[in-house]
Amino acid sequence: MSILNHLINGELSAGGSRTAAVFNPSTGEAIRQLPLADVATVQQAIAAAQAAYPAWRNTPPAKRAQVMFRFKQLLEANEARIAQLISEEHGKTLEDAAGELKRGIENVEYACGVPELLKGEYNRNVGPNIDAWSDFQPLGVVAGITPFNFPAMVPLWMYPLAIACGNTFILKPSERDPSSTLLIAQLLHEAGLPKGVMNVVHGDKEAVDALIEAPEVKALSFVGSTPIAEYIYAEGTKRGKRVQALGGAKNHAVLMPDADLNNAVNALMGAAYGSCGERCMAISVAVCVGDQVADALIAKLTPQIQALKIGAGTTCGLDMGPLVTAAARDKVVGYIDDGVAAGAELVVDGRDYRVAGHDNGYFVGGTLFDRVTPDMRIYKEEIFGPVLCVVRVNSLEEAIALINAHEYGNGTCIFTRDGEAARLFADQIEVGMVGINVPLPVPVAYHSFGGWKRSLFGDLHAYGPDGVRFYTRRKAITQRWPQRASHEASQFAFPSL
Ligand code: NAD
Repeated sequence: MSILNHLINGELSAGGSRTAAVFNPSTGEAIRQLPLADVATVQQAIAAAQAAYPAWRNTPPAKRAQVMFRFKQLLEANEARIAQLISEEHGKTLEDAAGELKRGIENVEYACGVPELLKGEYNRNVGPNIDAWSDFQPLGVVAGITPFNFPAMVPLWMYPLAIACGNTFILKPSERDPSSTLLIAQLLHEAGLPKGVMNVVHGDKEAVDALIEAPEVKALSFVGSTPIAEYIYAEGTKRGKRVQALGGAKNHAVLMPDADLNNAVNALMGAAYGSCGERCMAISVAVCVGDQVADALIAKLTPQIQALKIGAGTTCGLDMGPLVTAAARDKVVGYIDDGVAAGAELVVDGRDYRVAGHDNGYFVGGTLFDRVTPDMRIYKEEIFGPVLCVVRVNSLEEAIALINAHEYGNGTCIFTRDGEAARLFADQIEVGMVGINVPLPVPVAYHSFGGWKRSLFGDLHAYGPDGVRFYTRRKAITQRWPQRASHEASQFAFPSL
């Protein structure tokens, strides 16, 4: 079993007396051992990031962008290696792992444009001989805490832009699947990043709390479950930090009677069961407008769910791998039991799913519930597994009211051919990211990503233009260079034109 290390000040190092095992979810075997950082280890990373900050802040943005260009090339050259590591530890298929890396690289490409992104705003002659401008300056040492479900992409939402803006960074990745995240950070050093600008500390609550407590850490970006997002937002802002904390989700797809059902079914299959449902943008509820739509949807979905190709993620050509941990599998099975007990109609049952030769893998088959109602736990809570719930409603207005009443508001979509319905939906729905005939409306890197309600704590969304604002603070400068012969008299009234 190999042993992983922290990456502090450009060097791989041990640190912390506790360790955790990293498992291959397809086999149930422990394959790597991970050190869990203690407070002293986190403080070493903070000291390295602080020491690197002054020189990095003063490095011209165009030079910082050159590192990002080389980083992008290295990520592309190492795609297969990175996808293999993701798949081995997370369980998602190789194709899905390569896809998440590609979406992550988009954020590096965006960060390559940082000289343009950091342009200030300038006005000449706001008063006699007075010019004014806004400058967007880095914050200092900033940190990111990331979830297991996108070990490459979600960290890449954060640090390429933070670093390109002139900050130095500490990343605390998920302890479930840290190897690809660590390799990617090493590639960033290979691209020419100075030591200490980017540091990785592995760990759990102890490491996260050390980052929250440290006054040197000026901002926290978090992506993960809602209870932890809320905790980090409350504790971080209490200490005067800037915090963006993205949380959980329950994403609804509305199927209108005029939808192209075959397209909607294909889209739903990928959006509900891809990555075993372990995506914050996964569709977990299909809201059918009318019984006819629901009956037709279930008739088409059922054979496709039963035909899902499920196995070890590292085997090519599959649709779905296992869940990430034994605990995640047990939790998902528990939700299915709960749905049955609550009276939902179990159309396809993924419990007791077996993959030949992988008896100890954490597999659950694709599962479909019909006649789910809003009072059921399987409707209210995030299952984070391959379980799709069908809810039947009578009108678009009822669908909108249902979605707006849910505590989460990450993503949603509507399938329709009716422009008026689509426009009303996009306008009225209280969700941060909306798809129209697009099942997973994850914004591209030059827009920003974020939910509403209890899916995001904080004002600014992740990456894109909001990311630039999050990782910089505005300084407004007003400058006068008086003409040589003129003398200004004292002025006691508030300055105005
Ligand atoms: P998680 O909340 O368990 O863990 C996320 C991070 O927080 C990890 O780095 C973990 O080590 C750390 N952490 C866990 N418990 C902690 C504690 N008590 N105190 C401090 N830190 C703690 O989430 P997860 O299981 O890794 O990821 C799945 C969740 O992430 C789902 O809820 C999913 O919806 C959400 N997610 C949201 C988005 C989004 O953009 N909104 C994106 C991806 C995942």
